[in-house]
Amino acid sequence: MSDNLNWLTIHAAHELLARKKISSVELTQACLDNIEKVEPKVKALVTETADFALAQAKKADATIAQGKATPLTGIPALMKDVLCTQGIRTTASSKMLEKFVPPYNAAVIEKLIAAGMVLVGKTNLDEFAMGSSTENSAFFTTHNPYAFERVPGGSSGGSAAGVAAGEAIFSLGSDTGGSIRQPAGFCNVVGLKPTYGRVSRYGLIAFASSLDQIGPFTRDALDCALVMNVISGQDKRDATSAPEPVPDYTKNLNGNIKGMKIGIPKEYFVAGMQPEVDTAVKTAIKKLEELGAIVDWNVSLPSTRLALAVYYIIAPSEASANLARYDGSKYGAAFLNTDSMWEGMEKTKQFGFGPEVKRRIMLGTYALSSGYYDAYYLKAQKVRTLIRREFDAAFTKYDALVTPTSPTVPFKIGEKANDPLSMYLSDVCTLPINIAGVPGISIPAGFAKGLPIGLQIIGKPFAEETLFRISHAYQQVTDWHTRRPMI
Ligand code: GLN
Repeated sequence: MSDNLNWLTIHAAHELLARKKISSVELTQACLDNIEKVEPKVKALVTETADFALAQAKKADATIAQGKATPLTGIPALMKDVLCTQGIRTTASSKMLEKFVPPYNAAVIEKLIAAGMVLVGKTNLDEFAMGSSTENSAFFTTHNPYAFERVPGGSSGGSAAGVAAGEAIFSLGSDTGGSIRQPAGFCNVVGLKPTYGRVSRYGLIAFASSLDQIGPFTRDALDCALVMNVISGQDKRDATSAPEPVPDYTKNLNGNIKGMKIGIPKEYFVAGMQPEVDTAVKTAIKKLEELGAIVDWNVSLPSTRLALAVYYIIAPSEASANLARYDGSKYGAAFLNTDSMWEGMEKTKQFGFGPEVKRRIMLGTYALSSGYYDAYYLKAQKVRTLIRREFDAAFTKYDALVTPTSPTVPFKIGEKANDPLSMYLSDVCTLPINIAGVPGISIPAGFAKGLPIGLQIIGKPFAEETLFRISHAYQQVTDWHTRRPMI
């Protein structure tokens, strides 16, 4: 058994740890051994933290020996490299932060370490989380464990691929327009974008602050609930984190979704969608119907078609403000050996940022400049309100909405790299959910020629429980989530 420990779920590993059938050091070593084996092909990690991991695993084993194990004690995990880790470099996969070592931990890292999590590495992403394939990483591209010539999705591609390839038991990512759900769908794992405000973003390197949320990648719905139990909740250091009490997210995972009302918004079955995705998603919805859910196949959210345009005004605008701080004067790369301070700032940005980040900064600066602000930014904010209201109205009738996670299966590396618009389109189904601030989960729902397909379930604000309940029920009668890549 011991060479397969890295493929366990959190709950299965916890059982074995608590009964002292295995130790956290063994479990962690299994992950590290597998990293050595698969990492040359997958390239999910920017930084491996083997020594730190083994030291934490020893501590976890001591906790377990005292009978004090909680569900995450001794469980190996990966963290997207936008989450600040004290003393461990945090790069955002950018040259700008290539040597940045944070002096403090992000709130989620603090909570997970306190809960006994073992950090085995920091994962690759599209630079500053801008992208859908990890091809925008300043360092290297991550490969999909199911097909190495294809992308793992993005921007949290390393976090998704790492869990899918058995490098750790779970991971965290961040999602601004789909960056957890789309790679989860592409890599056959579970990925949750929580409600805006559910998880503290203290210590998250900001992309677009009105849209960013941190969330887990796991192997099933129960594991996702276990991680959310630890990372959710209000934090005084993040003014946007919400005071809503945190329930025990595992409480209602009883397989019963009888009478639950589920709506299928037709706008999410977009033109250009691959027929295999359409079929798999509809088959999954019929499964939910068989489980007793009442499905309305004819829901309409007409403002959905505006979401992509709204996102590509709001997200770059906020990004241009957030990224203004990287000017060489505080931290990060600095090219200050110049005649004037201005020239130094210019050079820092010129060499520190990659092409996609520069494109976003230019888009955002343009949309916010006087004379254009009303025409673009203000208008986008108004449409944002319309999109939100449509979701509010839908949720007076339905407990959840179900859609594809992405219109396609994972595309080939290089296929969209020179066509930003077609890359942006790969998030049409996920962006509206960030704009509305509601929670969304992607769960494994089938394969087309060996390539994973994700199902997205969207819920009311702070109704993550509902998403877990539906996902868990689906996972009791299907086995897509238990499939592993052949690596
Ligand atoms: N792909 C989208 C973008 O490039 C979303 C990224 C994200 O969620 N961080 O903006």
